[in-house]
Amino acid sequence: MGDLVYDVIVVGARCAGSPLAMLLSRQGHRVLVVDRASFPSDSVSTHYIHQAGLLKLKEWGLLDEIVGAGTPALRTMHYAYRGIELNGFAEPVDGVDAVYCPRRTVLDEILVNAARRAGAEVLEGFTLTDLVFDGDRVVGIRGREGDGPEREFRSTVVVGADGFHSTVAKRTGAELYNVRPAAGFIYYSYYTGLEDWGLHHKTGMNERWFGTWPTNDGLQMLATICTRRQLKEFRQDVEGRFQAVFDDVSPEMGVQLRDQGRRVEDFKPMRYPDNYYRRAYGPGWALVGDAGYHKDPYTGWGITDAFLHGQLLADRLHQGLAGERPMEEALAEYNKLRDEESGDVYDFTTTLGELTELPPFFRATMSAMSATQEWTDRMLGLIGGIVEGYEIYAPDALERLYDSAGVPQDQRIYDPAG
Ligand SMILES: Cc1cc2nc3c(=O)[nH]c(=O)nc-3n(C[C@H](O)[C@H](O)[C@H](O)COP(=O)(O)OP(=O)(O)OC[C@H]3O[C@@H](n4cnc5c(N)ncnc54)[C@H](O)[C@@H]3O)c2cc1C
Repeated sequence: MGDLVYDVIVVGARCAGSPLAMLLSRQGHRVLVVDRASFPSDSVSTHYIHQAGLLKLKEWGLLDEIVGAGTPALRTMHYAYRGIELNGFAEPVDGVDAVYCPRRTVLDEILVNAARRAGAEVLEGFTLTDLVFDGDRVVGIRGREGDGPEREFRSTVVVGADGFHSTVAKRTGAELYNVRPAAGFIYYSYYTGLEDWGLHHKTGMNERWFGTWPTNDGLQMLATICTRRQLKEFRQDVEGRFQAVFDDVSPEMGVQLRDQGRRVEDFKPMRYPDNYYRRAYGPGWALVGDAGYHKDPYTGWGITDAFLHGQLLADRLHQGLAGERPMEEALAEYNKLRDEESGDVYDFTTTLGELTELPPFFRATMSAMSATQEWTDRMLGLIGGIVEGYEIYAPDALERLYDSAGVPQDQRIYDPAG
């Protein structure tokens, strides 16, 4: 093993790959990160980062760069789900008193540069074509820059941070589990001319949703999500159907969009792949970000999870590389923690992403929370990953919630399955 060049090779240099490369390099490990893209580079993804993700950026010393790039600070959220409204903002944590929606051209470049500054070697425009195996152990990668000759790099561990079409996952045969069918599709674009709408996340009564987020360069990003059965009709008249979602979910905002909004870029569409987990490690390899775990973008948790799981994996790779514990044991723990810590968001996302009537427990509790500012803000904190589930859903908390909203005893639901 003495001829290994790198400790870790990371394939994919966006939200999952670059933070991982940065963290490992800061620990003194030799890291190569490759991506077929060249940065700044756009990606089909909207831009919402939850407070839990912003706290990671702050801890890593990168939040100021997001703010410095002119990304607007948002301090009010307007959530609505089939008639239940939550308007407010979570209690600030560790000085994070706003949320941000940086364009991926802005965010991903900041992340790649941070990895490079930390000492990682970054190879842009490099496409991975295959993994190098020694028996069943992954020992490196093969690929090429543009039309250049094939090159090979070796490492102790190869990490696939290469998104939901992950070549690393395919070549290692990482098995899928807890797969749930995708519910919808999205169209989004950028607008000028609108009043300062702020952040809206609104699901109407007809399996339609829209979101609005102010982002860089004075632009508002507007997005719609509908369930798959509406796709054929939507494709026949994208401009008209996009407008119709706003008209349907919030007629006043629909009027403003029609009268004042000016779209300045092409629509970006995406029909979602199914929701899934993949086994996150094996001999000489690991997966992070969408490569190993993907869910409906409805709750906007992909970027935040990529940060959280990038940190989880970096910590355990470090333990393995430093000889503090066997690598296999460290990576098994990463897999376990990733699944445990993301389980609630996965359930919440795949339930709400259906855009249909809420299960009775969620309807009862969300209605009760919408009755007072204190509980609204607590729920917004839960959505943002800075309030623990038990602070709302433990039996005594539920009792206080229902009391505060004056919910009659016979309408109180305590069992999520009830
Ligand atoms: C329409 C849509 C909207 C979304 N909106 C949000 C949102 O508002 N908030 C949020 O948190 N999440 C959102 N998400 C989810 C979020 O985009 C992803 O979870 C996140 O980008 C995952 O990051 P990643 O680094 O794992 O993968 P990716 O961002 O997919 O990056 C993978 C990288 O790997 C590279 N790569 C792939 N294959 C190869 C190869 N063979 N060789 C070299 N390089 C390769 C690619 O070029 C790419 O740069 C959205 C997703 C979609 C589809």
